[in-house]
Amino acid sequence: MSGAIRLAVIGLGKIARDQHLPAIASSDAFELVATVSRDGARSDGIPHFEEVGDLAESNIGVDAVSVCTPPQVRRAVAQAALARGWHVLLEKPPAATLGEAEALRDLACARETTLFASWHSRHAAGVAPARAWLADREIRSVRIAWREDVRVWHPGQAWIWQPGGFGVFDPGINALSIITHILPRPLFVTAADLEVPENCAAPIAGTVSMCDSAGVNVAMELDFLQQGPQSWDIAIETDAGTLRLAKGGAEVSFPDGRQPPAENDGEYPALYAHYAELIRAGESDVDLAPLRIVADAFLKGRHRQVAAFIE
Ligand code: NAP
Repeated sequence: MSGAIRLAVIGLGKIARDQHLPAIASSDAFELVATVSRDGARSDGIPHFEEVGDLAESNIGVDAVSVCTPPQVRRAVAQAALARGWHVLLEKPPAATLGEAEALRDLACARETTLFASWHSRHAAGVAPARAWLADREIRSVRIAWREDVRVWHPGQAWIWQPGGFGVFDPGINALSIITHILPRPLFVTAADLEVPENCAAPIAGTVSMCDSAGVNVAMELDFLQQGPQSWDIAIETDAGTLRLAKGGAEVSFPDGRQPPAENDGEYPALYAHYAELIRAGESDVDLAPLRIVADAFLKGRHRQVAAFIE
């Protein structure tokens, strides 16, 4: 493919407006040719459609799409796009279930189109240096604290509380996307304790205990009702001291206190650079490990009903 990749953004909500549209605008690799969202919202001068089918029937040339809808509708939207031969970027989580994500991977393979199950936190500035440093270390234990105020970060997003909405795992899966990228061995869920508000279908808080095949323990705490300072922190104990990732992976500090400067332009510009590379190379990138851990926590966890959540 020569020239800019003609891209449509599907699902024009918070993340599409805050991150995708600016990253696309600053990229030479992509040209935004259309947006799709049911509410009729438009970005200036760009053709807008309410449904993917309307875009497909238009005379607008499309090479690729980014699917930024809530997870519950992502499989159907992505399936329609792949069936047309369009390349597809999936916002995280790649689908509402493992089965849906695997079906999309298989369809992309059959259609010989690119499927990028993106994990934006893997492109956070501290993650690559952390991964490189850990490669030579013996890892002893990992602690994850992911605590944020849902009322601040997800106002009005009712889909988060509905079946397939992930609840507190909507942000929590970002931590899982980082640790499955920087730790050397796959993780197994050994136990989970999930607190589900009586008026919701998804957890509002919980703990997840994991281990790897070498017996390294990973403990995760999740809270969607955090007041005051918010935490998106990972601490990794090694034979050479403790490595810390903070601010969702944006900052890394090594045991000697060293904090390397950021080496990329931000998560979403890096994510789109990778999407362009995959399309040009005719490849896909579909790592479902973070979604599998969430699924296993739901399968193996104890689900406890707690007080209703009123926004
Ligand atoms: P949001 O603000 O609720 O936006 C979701 C958008 O999807 C809405 O504009 C909605 O608009 C659209 N939509 C829903 N069903 C659709 C359909 N069938 N076809 C086309 N569009 C549809 O949610 P968000 O915060 O942007 O999150 C979306 C995804 O991005 C989630 O998976 C989330 O985990 C991920 N994400 C969010 C953040 C964040 O900080 N918010 C960060 C990273 C990743 P209409 O109802 O008008 O169609």
